Amino acid sequence: MAPTRRPGDPSSRLRIEIRGAVQGVGFRPFVYRLAKELSLAGWVGNDNRGVTIEIEGSPGSVDEFLRRLPLERPPASVIAGIVHTGIAPTLATTFTIEPSTEDGAKIAEILPDLATCPACIAEVLDARDRRHRYPFTNCTHCGPRFSIVVGLPYDRSRTTMAGFAMCPKCTAEYASPDDRRFHAQPNACPDCGPRLALWDGAGEALAEGDAALSAAAVALREGAIVAVKGLGGFHLMVDARDDEAVSRLRARKARWAKPLAVMAYGLDEAKLLGVVSEDEAIALASQEAPIVLLERLPGCGLAQGVAPGNPRLGVMLAATPLHHLLLGATGFPLVATSGNLSEEPICIDEREAVSRLCGIADRFLVHDRPIARHVDDSVAAVVSGRLRLVRRARGFAPRPIALPASGPTVLAVGAHLKNVVALSVERRAVVSQHIGDMETLEAQVAFERVIGDLVAMYDAPPVAIAHDLHPDYASTRWAQRSGLPLVGVQHHHAHLASCLADNQAEGPALGIVWDGTGFGTDNTVWGGEFLLGDAASVTRVAHLRPFRLPGGEAAVREPRRSALGLLVAAFGVDALSWDDLAPVASFSSRQRAVIAAALSGDTNSPWTTSAGRLFDGIAAITGMGERSEFEGQAAMALEFAVDPAVRDAYPLAGSSDANPSVLDWGPLLSSVVDDVRRRTPPGTIAARFHNALVAAIVGVAEKAGCDTVALSGGCFQNRVLTERALAALTASGFTVLLHRQVPPNDGGIALGQLAVASRRLASLP
Ligand SMILES: [Zn+2]
Ligand SMILES: [Zn+2]
Ligand SMILES: [Zn+2]
Repeated sequence: MAPTRRPGDPSSRLRIEIRGAVQGVGFRPFVYRLAKELSLAGWVGNDNRGVTIEIEGSPGSVDEFLRRLPLERPPASVIAGIVHTGIAPTLATTFTIEPSTEDGAKIAEILPDLATCPACIAEVLDARDRRHRYPFTNCTHCGPRFSIVVGLPYDRSRTTMAGFAMCPKCTAEYASPDDRRFHAQPNACPDCGPRLALWDGAGEALAEGDAALSAAAVALREGAIVAVKGLGGFHLMVDARDDEAVSRLRARKARWAKPLAVMAYGLDEAKLLGVVSEDEAIALASQEAPIVLLERLPGCGLAQGVAPGNPRLGVMLAATPLHHLLLGATGFPLVATSGNLSEEPICIDEREAVSRLCGIADRFLVHDRPIARHVDDSVAAVVSGRLRLVRRARGFAPRPIALPASGPTVLAVGAHLKNVVALSVERRAVVSQHIGDMETLEAQVAFERVIGDLVAMYDAPPVAIAHDLHPDYASTRWAQRSGLPLVGVQHHHAHLASCLADNQAEGPALGIVWDGTGFGTDNTVWGGEFLLGDAASVTRVAHLRPFRLPGGEAAVREPRRSALGLLVAAFGVDALSWDDLAPVASFSSRQRAVIAAALSGDTNSPWTTSAGRLFDGIAAITGMGERSEFEGQAAMALEFAVDPAVRDAYPLAGSSDANPSVLDWGPLLSSVVDDVRRRTPPGTIAARFHNALVAAIVGVAEKAGCDTVALSGGCFQNRVLTERALAALTASGFTVLLHRQVPPNDGGIALGQLAVASRRLASLP
């Protein structure tokens, strides 16, 4: 029971400043109710930095308020810090909610978009509720945030809802501290909020409102491809059970192999598609609602073309009322793939969608709530008992990540593939949503838009730019054009620093950084690196034996080229006549002559230590994929092939005399070739290869003499490699750091660049 305050009692007054994700989540009404309950006077308000409270009352009640505040905070809020100071009592007797102010630096957190809460879903499904079947229902616990914000502090006038005037009923909810929609900025209803429309493939209106939704469901049932405007952009949707429709979608998108994600109505429906562990169930049904990679259930009834040759399936649950209603109306799971061409950023505007997706979508289900910025679906997997991100966007961006120290504002521009940028704001890294591969003009435009957006939103112009050392990356060139002081960060050093920052660890650690491509300090392509150090500096203690990539970049799409590079390095040009090996046989004798010349001369065959290309080469020699549609495809095939019963390993050891030590894959390659010639099952070869890598990792770690090992780089999206390396290193007494808040792939590079740049700038005189 709250102690009651009587006139004449001693009173104390506190000023409390709260940092974190505390705006737009019902924090002020929560504070209001708690203060009322404890008979406290004072006020609460939003400002640029978060929430500020002044409370006044008996010392017992004030203490009780401080105790309960963090314990009972609203579900969607995150408290990063609470600071309170005693001030003089004013003998106030009421508690009020003050209007937002714009005082202070803009460091309040913008929340990510949150999946619809159970209370809102219940209203949407309740025939007596005024929001029955309303696809834009939301409250302070759920709904759009990041995808509608145009400025801080977070208020309706600074969102894309500004153009929708609330009706009297919505206004009353918005103004009542006792209502779940008190200051719910996107609050709306069928009378005053956004509306749906269905357009044909040319953008001509066919239906509006609920009729549009029903007609879209009918079209999906008939096998049509429907572009659906969601929270952070367009999805292309099609009946996931319909072989013909899925093939048509693939043909129109010219995307043949890359797995497509599937949206299920709810957890029960997801369990019909994949094996769902307890952790995976929590992830699927979380507010972040990412695509979760599940083990596919045999006979789950999905079309073959959804994820060909892949034992896993990316599944997400409907996370907005629109998707709940659509999935409810179809009654079957839908393919939900990005509304874009290849790796371009997703469309967010309906007119742009019609022009970019014309010829792909038969229908467009659109609405008139503008999307402020593109936010893709996040992709995650539960690995070693924890959710790990593969792509960080909806539900996670722009949640900040704590940096080890406060410093000047730095912008990190990321790498080239899976580009993400990050901005340091005081002690936090604001890591952007996934932008994509910087190959297309659209991606480069999106890259500039996201940078402008972050800097404007936090009103934090950078004083320096951190970039990759690769001179030809579009991100590097953009940094060079900026005119600001530059901090070049070696690619794999950024990976290690990212893994440390991700784990709030200072280091030093042995970073085992394996990926496809990263520019090395010796101007060669690195990618099988063992770096000892921290954010300040690293020493390269070991790497994979270098080999040459005939055709350079072409090797990314053609694992057979990596195979030839490995074979010629180990056995000489004679290996180019080994027609019994699939990658050799796949080239004509003329092509082989060109490759032989390239490998013995200096033309277009760069040296590399890339672990990703070693995976590719071994996969190709084992007969898995001479060509790839996307980077990592052949490596994934090799991972999926692993026979778990096979525990022995190929030889792969480091030389003891060289510095850095060189892991020679030569004997391993000989054994693989022998096994292929003996017709050893591919599952055995794949297992022996993975086991060899794990043993080599432990061997180098033992020599390096550092207790902490950080695993980073795109190769550690490989679950077999990661889980086995984690188990073996842990058994040998090492503390192992894996990524948690950012992906191990190049989507995590910007965070690492920030960490390195902060350290370098802090150490300047
Ligand atoms: Zn809600
Ligand atoms: Zn209304
Ligand atoms: Zn990388």
